[in-house]
Amino acid sequence: MQMIINGGDVVSADDQWMDIVNPATGETIDHVPRGSPDDAVAAVEAAESAFPSWSEKTARERGVILFHAAEKIREQHKDLARLLTQEQGKPLKESIDEVRGCANILEYYAAIAGRPSGEAVRLGHAGDCLVTRVPLGVCGAIIPWNMPAIIMGWKVGPALLAGNTLVLKPASTTPLTNIRIARLLQEAGLPPGVLNVVTGPGETVGAAIVRHPQVRKISFTGDCATGHRIREMAEGQFKEITLELGGSDPMIVMDDADINSAVDGAIRGRFYNAGQICTAVKRLFLHEKIAQVFLKKLREKTEALRIGNGLDAGTDMGPMNSADQRENLSAVLDDALAHDEGTLLTGGSAPVGDMYEKGFFYRPTLVNDVVPGSRLLTDEIFGPLLPVMTVPDLDTAIREANHSHYGLGASVWTKDLGVAKRVYREVTAGIIWVNRHLTVPPEIPFGGMNESGIGRENGYHAIEAYTQTKTLYLGW
Ligand code: NDP
Repeated sequence: MQMIINGGDVVSADDQWMDIVNPATGETIDHVPRGSPDDAVAAVEAAESAFPSWSEKTARERGVILFHAAEKIREQHKDLARLLTQEQGKPLKESIDEVRGCANILEYYAAIAGRPSGEAVRLGHAGDCLVTRVPLGVCGAIIPWNMPAIIMGWKVGPALLAGNTLVLKPASTTPLTNIRIARLLQEAGLPPGVLNVVTGPGETVGAAIVRHPQVRKISFTGDCATGHRIREMAEGQFKEITLELGGSDPMIVMDDADINSAVDGAIRGRFYNAGQICTAVKRLFLHEKIAQVFLKKLREKTEALRIGNGLDAGTDMGPMNSADQRENLSAVLDDALAHDEGTLLTGGSAPVGDMYEKGFFYRPTLVNDVVPGSRLLTDEIFGPLLPVMTVPDLDTAIREANHSHYGLGASVWTKDLGVAKRVYREVTAGIIWVNRHLTVPPEIPFGGMNESGIGRENGYHAIEAYTQTKTLYLGW
């Protein structure tokens, strides 16, 4: 597949290519241009040229295009989902959810196109003011590999509806679905240059987008360290930055919880997408009164998960996205076990068998009695590994939940509204779920506190993040 600059399919200026590998089989399934900083600059220039006429359209005109794109994504969701599974690894049913999720997000933004923005301020004898919201200009969107379609929707939907133009850089392991969705947006009526997709390494292409002075905003999702680098690169420039840098979400299960539904919540919360989700359950705190029975059920369900190629019907968990990701996970676990930082209950290695030989598979893993300070708790563990701790009471659970430099999400499983209220008030996180985890519908703001990032995506709040106020002061 080729990149998209100014509406055209293009190869990189120096004709270099990158292989895209299926993480379940190790086979190369396609290749994309290894773009250069010059390609990024060409994309920014195309986005700049497209900005005046795009931003002059009405929000409703822009929304109609998003709506038609959503329709096209739905029509082609099976093909898109297959492509996503082949490049990312997740089971087909999860890819279908994700692709439909992307359509839902575009539809949501299309639907709020008519929502009034801005305000009128009456200043009495001093006059009246009209405060409107105007787009920022060219924005840069840097996408990770774990949920490329959803995260593309989170950035493209509000940015375009608000009248901005975009340069999008997909992750180097998962650019194909992003390119296909961008083409569907074009087929739905997006003018050339409004959405450009530049493939290539983050270190060069991503950095060129961040550094470009005409790029007014960067919206990045990915690693904390990369987020820090992006802030440094943008230092001294007048750019807005939204960073979504992952998390280490706690899940607290109290003694009055519905155990079966909480076990299912933990399984889905940790092993969906092979654990490679920023809001995955990354630390499980069990009240001591239910810990034993909970762990027994959790272990049974964990061991029953069928690992395999995401394209095979019946696969519950696919491979990890890359050999590097699997190595990182395995190194952190091995180190923790070598230092007696927890007890391995199940998993802890790659599955054995011909079908697993060439892919980046890892067994779903549970580690109990993890000691405070272990990297299993302090790092963002981005894979199918769940550290578990038993706590005597809610006070301890809340204290331990807050013992993290992240603050993306958290959940509490209980029937007691008083407990839920305490967790909501006292746990530091951008979203607190009660008897649920992971779910983020398009209507709600999404983003973290502490080192989980800066700013919010999703919901109406994202429109504000892609606009700035401009005031008309009428002195009469
Ligand atoms: P990165 O942060 O490196 O990648 C995310 C995106 O940033 C990719 O498109 C990448 O491009 C790009 N990028 C990388 N370096 C730069 C740069 N200097 N300037 C601009 N863009 C850049 O994450 P990794 O893929 O290395 O994953 C590492 C860890 O990050 C994971 O183990 C996980 O802990 C965390 N992570 C968190 C995610 C989240 O949802 N919050 C998502 C993904 C990862 P390229 O692919 O070409 O390198």
